[in-house]
Amino acid sequence: MMEVYLDNNATTMVDPQVFEEMKPFFCDIYGNPNSLHRFGSGTHPKMLEALDYLYAGINANDEDDIVVTANATESNNWVLQSTWIEQILNGDKKHIITSEVEHPAITATCKFLERQGVEVTYLNVNEEGVLEADAVKEALRDDTALVSIMWANNETGKIFPVEEIGKICKEAGVIFHSDATQAIGKVKVDVQAANVDMISFSAHKFHGPKGVGGLYIKKGTPLMPLMHGGEQMGGRRAGTVDVASMVGMGKAMHLATNTMALAYEENHVRMLRDKLESEILKLPDTIVIGGRENRTPNTTLISFKGVEGESMLWDLNQSGIGASTGSACASEDLEANPVMNAFGSDSELAHTGVRFSLSRFNTEEQIDYAIEQITKAVERLRGISSSYAYAPQKHVSGL
Ligand code: PLP
Repeated sequence: MMEVYLDNNATTMVDPQVFEEMKPFFCDIYGNPNSLHRFGSGTHPKMLEALDYLYAGINANDEDDIVVTANATESNNWVLQSTWIEQILNGDKKHIITSEVEHPAITATCKFLERQGVEVTYLNVNEEGVLEADAVKEALRDDTALVSIMWANNETGKIFPVEEIGKICKEAGVIFHSDATQAIGKVKVDVQAANVDMISFSAHKFHGPKGVGGLYIKKGTPLMPLMHGGEQMGGRRAGTVDVASMVGMGKAMHLATNTMALAYEENHVRMLRDKLESEILKLPDTIVIGGRENRTPNTTLISFKGVEGESMLWDLNQSGIGASTGSACASEDLEANPVMNAFGSDSELAHTGVRFSLSRFNTEEQIDYAIEQITKAVERLRGISSSYAYAPQKHVSGL
């Protein structure tokens, strides 16, 4: 049986070239980078190279900061909690703007801040799953401390108008943070062109190791540290740096963001995703949630009418295919996917979405096999679904 991994928005395989770069830092060059002796300072050249790759990958200015964190969750928490302490508790602001379709690393943190008295506006997306920049403009208040809007959505792949939002925030003098976790390596992320003050990312989403991520901080952006201790990361995040992970993340960033890599993503990965999607859409009562426009090249979120997403995943798993229902049914009471609910779609749609997310390591042979198996699974599951036989055969409106 062929094995096909189509859950790359959850995490990716470590690129073997990244793994090779990391290896020396476990048993050979293992000194603490802060030590003065050669065992420690021997790590510096590769750490500096990693930083260079990180700066180049997002087009950061030399004067800006990139701080290595544990992951995007930490970076997002840092931005929100520091904003709260610095600008709200100890300042005169009260308000944060975000969207309803952010990852829980943003929304759950915002809920926590609301319990501390912070006012949060959760903007809704349009029927195509995209946040309109004007909605940000309308929501801005004199006491808004921060706008946090993702670069690309993890479930639908929809790309948000960060450049426009960046411009609006700049004009209003409000700090703009974007969670770019699902954008790096899939589309061009240029922090200067986007006028963004901070972005978060996680290495394991672009073929780097797990447990390491970053926060880009534009020069002059106020952000107090949350980790106090040693002077690592210029005093912005205390704690001995995991050199192997940092070096791995740098290499992964380099491999994912150079022009050739992005062109490959645009051509090869998009071609495979479009083939998968077009073939699946030949099945009746099957739609792409949010439509096919304006997405990262690797993602498709498909609703199969009458087929519970969880059943579909289980069936596909038997055939060696790994996909996802995103955050759908994450809880034991089979709560529907909040991203799909945010579209205002009916609850059936929310329960029938399956996300396929590809990577540069997928082959056409794998995609052909996946098409075959998905088709069989849908036919089998619809055959035993009482609701499908009796359901009116119409597409869900507006999507
Ligand atoms: N932000 C987005 C948009 C994500 O998709 C994810 C992970 O799926 C995260 C943040 C959190 O990443 P991590 O678990 O590496 O912290």
